[in-house]
Formats: sequence, C-alpha cells, structure tokens
Amino acid sequence: MHTEYTLLMSMALDGEAAPDEIRRLEAHVTGCAGCAAMWTRWQALDRRFVAAAWAPAPANLAEKVTARLAEREAQKRRSFWLGSGLLVSWFAVLLVSAAAIGLLALWGTNHPKEVAALLSALAQLLSGGSHALRGIGTLAGSFGGATAALGFGLLIALTGWLALLWAWVMGRSRQWPGLSVSAGK
Ligand SMILES: [Zn+2]
Repeated sequence: MHTEYTLLMSMALDGEAAPDEIRRLEAHVTGCAGCAAMWTRWQALDRRFVAAAWAPAPANLAEKVTARLAEREAQKRRSFWLGSGLLVSWFAVLLVSAAAIGLLALWGTNHPKEVAALLSALAQLLSGGSHALRGIGTLAGSFGGATAALGFGLLIALTGWLALLWAWVMGRSRQWPGLSVSAGK
C-alpha cells in the first residue's frame, strides 16, 4: 500500500519527522481512507502505550515476580519428581513382569504336560458357557501348589513394591521446597 506514508506515521509517532513531513502526511491522510484509518489506529495505540509507560508500577512488583518465578521453578521440580517416580515404578513393573515370565517359561520347559493341560483349560475357559466352571477346575488342578504359591508371591511382592514406592514418592512430596513457596504465597 502506501509504504512511504506508513513510514512517515512511524517517524511522526517517534518524534523523528520534520514539520513539512508531518504536513505531507496529514495532507495525504485527508484524501486516503486506508491511511487515515491506519493513522487513527496507530495514534490510539501510541497514546495507550505512553499511558501504560507512565502508570506507576505496583509497589511489590519485584516481590511478586520473584514469587511467581519461584513457583514456576517449584512446579518444574514437582513434575520432574512425578515423572521420575512414574519411570521408576514402570521399570519395577517391567522387571517383575520379566522375572515372572522368565520363571513361567522355566516352569513350562520343565513341565510340558502341565503347559498343555493349562492351554487346553484356557481354551475351555474361553469357550465359556457350561464349560467355564470345569475349565477353572482343570486350570486349578493343572497348577501345582508350588506354582500357585509362586504366582501369589510374585503378585504380593509387586503390590508391596508399588505400595512402598508410592509411600516413598508421597514422603518426598512433603520435602519438595516448592510446596512451601506455593503454600505461603
Ligand atoms: Zn494512503
């Protein structure tokens, strides 16, 4: 559009335009609707900017900004701890699952007949209906007492581990320096 006059507007608002340049701008603006609208908008913006620059800053601005920054920092720390806690628990579950699968695989290679019985019991279970109860009975029978105990032990160990981990994360959360900052704001 009228780049020359846009530049003149900017110079005029910055106080860098010569009087004859300002006259030229005003003369153009009276005849150009597009530049007139832009000039009005720019002048309004400039007035608002000047007013904002002269408005007194709140007395405790620095204090507020510092508190806000500290809170943001604490939030970052909190999410870091939460993230690492989740990562650790995920690794624990992965480790326990791998151990369980390994033990089951070991048991399976030593007890191929039981595995076959287990698979047929599972198939019976999946076929559902009247076979379901019989399937559960076969399943329980095919599992030796020791294997059942091992499975239960693994489950209990996993649950205990996760509970301990959760307690640890919760205990840490009370020591997070960020909590006292956000609580005392
Ligand atoms: Zn124009």
